[in-house]
Amino acid sequence: MAGNWKMYKTPADTHAFFEAFKPLVADAKNVDIVLCPPFADLHAAITETANSGIAVGAQNLYWGKEGAVTGEVSGHMLQAIGCQYVIIAHSERRQYFGESEPDVVRKIEAALEYGLTPIVCVGERLEEREEGRTEEVLATMFDGGLAPLAAEQFAKVVIAYEPVWAIGTGKTATPEIAEAAHRFIRGKVAEKFGADAAAAVRILYGGSVKPDNVTKLMSEEDIDGALVGGASLDPKSFAAIVNF
Ligand code: PEP
Repeated sequence: MAGNWKMYKTPADTHAFFEAFKPLVADAKNVDIVLCPPFADLHAAITETANSGIAVGAQNLYWGKEGAVTGEVSGHMLQAIGCQYVIIAHSERRQYFGESEPDVVRKIEAALEYGLTPIVCVGERLEEREEGRTEEVLATMFDGGLAPLAAEQFAKVVIAYEPVWAIGTGKTATPEIAEAAHRFIRGKVAEKFGADAAAAVRILYGGSVKPDNVTKLMSEEDIDGALVGGASLDPKSFAAIVNF
């Protein structure tokens, strides 16, 4: 269960969040919990989560170890401060920052080089779904962003299916719609990397996941977890999702 705070919260807010959140998930079992705050809050989040079993991730990284790349942060730096995960290719980054499939591959490789688990987002926009092109879009993203990886690299990747029309809109995909997309993605993994890789890969659903819809989504066979935006900002609601 991963939370994406996007561009919300200060370090003081981050301390307050974890003070409230940690006791609420202290008994959570059989679940990996990840919070991905903005870069400015990573230090606070990592300090707060020490020895708690809660992992911290970034929301983006740049490939390369260091260099003249003003405004960017490398996997090397994220590893050095104690990050364990990084979100790659969130639809907001694809839309506002023009991230392309070759960028996605470079970022995944950079994450893996520095021991970070990439959470790689794929998903169709509303017009693409309405035109009946969902599988075509998912296939293009898979073929361009994930299929070029070596099998050993792919084995360390988490995929997040996030239909863009469901992000921040309150319109959750029905469990059936989400399951169909997850099954399609798992099928692509099986074609490229084999049945064992397809069975092992974790595919998270993201798009208006809330405490009241998580249980139904999670009951689908191919939905292995959730990537949660808005509802991860509140300790009680994210804890309710973790503890579903
Ligand atoms: C997200 O940003 O990854 C997301 C799924 O947002 P929300 O849960 O707010 O729809």
